[in-house]
Amino acid sequence: ATPTAIMAATGQAARRGIYIRNGEALETASGLTVLVFDKTGTVTEGRPVVSHFVSQPDFDANDVLALVAAAEAGSEHHLARSVVDYARSRGIEPQPVDDFSAEIGRGIRARIGRHVVLVGSASYLAEEGVAVQVPSLDGQTPVLAAIDGTFAALFGISDRPRPTSAAAIARLHDLGIRTIMVTGDVAAAAHPIAAEVGIPEVVAQASPARKQEIVAELRAAGESVGMIGDGINDAPALAAADVGFAIGTGTDVAIEAAPVTLVNGDIAKVAEMIELSRKTMRIIR
Ligand code: ADP
Ligand code: MG
Repeated sequence: ATPTAIMAATGQAARRGIYIRNGEALETASGLTVLVFDKTGTVTEGRPVVSHFVSQPDFDANDVLALVAAAEAGSEHHLARSVVDYARSRGIEPQPVDDFSAEIGRGIRARIGRHVVLVGSASYLAEEGVAVQVPSLDGQTPVLAAIDGTFAALFGISDRPRPTSAAAIARLHDLGIRTIMVTGDVAAAAHPIAAEVGIPEVVAQASPARKQEIVAELRAAGESVGMIGDGINDAPALAAADVGFAIGTGTDVAIEAAPVTLVNGDIAKVAEMIELSRKTMRIIR
């Protein structure tokens, strides 16, 4: 590999919105056999919208919404922003909280005055000892809220695939690359999105550690693995991959964990980079 050819290709990539931090990533990309995709904010736009909200009978809807919005205002998760937007659309401004912690890949916990508010997946609330019921939400992502240990409200949230995702996946398949979606979301929400964009394999309800483990297992099985993600929850998997691709509009933690940044977040750029890498490696071998 001549350094000049690598530098030229890196410059060419940068002009197309693909920032490559080291020459090794460019070289390795030519041999990738599997690409693992995060869902929310990677395959989808990451602008989810609350389309369903019901508070439990013993709770006042606006009171619950005010507490949940206050709690979620401290989170940079896409789902959290959609909840805050929804509350604002109903005239509720998030109030300050006394204490906040993010449980990455699960949800958040906040203390607001005398109340403790948990917001997150059904499994997170269940693990925290909250009795929950989740009705089928027709493919939406369920987000649940508990106040002082009692299930208080359910949100159904949906996010559209990026308009370029289906073509990007098809192009990767044309290049002979296997694609897998690995998401923290539930299967009922993940499968319709995967089907819509043409990703044949789906692993749902994957924790950040599980995402990393899946990348490591694929590598141990002899695959050369690319990982594409945008969230704090994707950082361990991005770092464990042969080549990590961070969505440029995503979190700083993801960008720091990956040698490649897709500046405008277009996952079609992954196929472009692989083609450029293959071309470069043919020239310089
Ligand atoms: P993904 O892999 O789709 O990016 P995450 O690993 O970030 O998802 O989150 C997994 C699940 O945890 C979400 O689908 C949601 O149910 C829950 N969750 C995580 N963070 C939050 C939050 N701030 N607010 C509500 N739910 C959350
Ligand atoms: Mg994500």
